[in-house]
Amino acid sequence: MPYKLIHRVIPLISLFGWLISCSQAQEVKSNRSIDTQWNVTESEWKNKLTELEYYVLREKGTEPAFSGIYWDNKEKGIYRCKACQLALFSSDTKYKSGTGWPSFWEPMNSKNITEEKDFAFGIIRTEVVCSRCGGHLGHVFPDGPKPTGLRYCLNSAALDFEIEKIKK
Ligand SMILES: [Zn+2]
Repeated sequence: MPYKLIHRVIPLISLFGWLISCSQAQEVKSNRSIDTQWNVTESEWKNKLTELEYYVLREKGTEPAFSGIYWDNKEKGIYRCKACQLALFSSDTKYKSGTGWPSFWEPMNSKNITEEKDFAFGIIRTEVVCSRCGGHLGHVFPDGPKPTGLRYCLNSAALDFEIEKIKK
């Protein structure tokens, strides 16, 4: 395996191991295993995702404001991770932030997202990452509405929307 590829794969494996160790701390205490389903190489992600999705999810990029398909989406439903389809946010906690990115005040299940400190561009922000595949979703800021006071500022490119089925 060329050095460059090893250099990219090893940190990725470490990241998956770390994410799993956080979500299943009791089970992996002595046996640090990796969920092979999400042990995806960067070239596999490149094949699976569009250029913009890869840039956001795997390279921690940000789509331009007001450019995504969900910032103004008012339909009822569930927002899933574009890469692994894990359910992340509900339209019930989506609100109009005026930023041009889909914004929520609370995740559906706090275990499904991981928050990490981000020191890019010389400023400290809190990055929001999918707990299952490690994909970058956006950032969380402390200027959201009640009851949490949080603003989960996400990229449309990192999300899939599943419209709520009307029960008959
Ligand atoms: Zn994911």
